[in-house]
Amino acid sequence: MNRLEEGSFALFFEGKKLMPISLDKNMVGFCAQCDSDLISFAYYKNDIRWLVSANCRNNHYVLIQYDLNWNWLIDQDLELSEIKTSFCSIPQEKLAAVFTSAEVRDMLAFESGKPFTRQNLYRARAKFDKFEKLFGIKLKL
Ligand SMILES: [Zn+2]
Repeated sequence: MNRLEEGSFALFFEGKKLMPISLDKNMVGFCAQCDSDLISFAYYKNDIRWLVSANCRNNHYVLIQYDLNWNWLIDQDLELSEIKTSFCSIPQEKLAAVFTSAEVRDMLAFESGKPFTRQNLYRARAKFDKFEKLFGIKLKL
């Protein structure tokens, strides 16, 4: 599955990370799912193709591929992913305001691939909404 990172517009395509060369908005066709206009929002190029990320007003995302002469090749699904906030990049005092020290320890352990207590992660996860309301930082595990 082709994946696009929200915010940075980095595209993960065939195992490679591509950065957009343009964020032009153009009408590039019609949505196969709902028939409304598809509007481009990021353009990429690799050695053999142009890749265009586009979506319709109903938030259907598609990756349109062209050869280097702009002959259409194929449309593929495109999945959006949020930029993951790394726990170690969040100041400890903020984490401590919402999570217990055991929860913080195990979230960091989980993130760095070390052993952790599952129960603490469950408890921490239940507080993510609260953390987001307080600090505007969306957490994900
Ligand atoms: Zn659509």
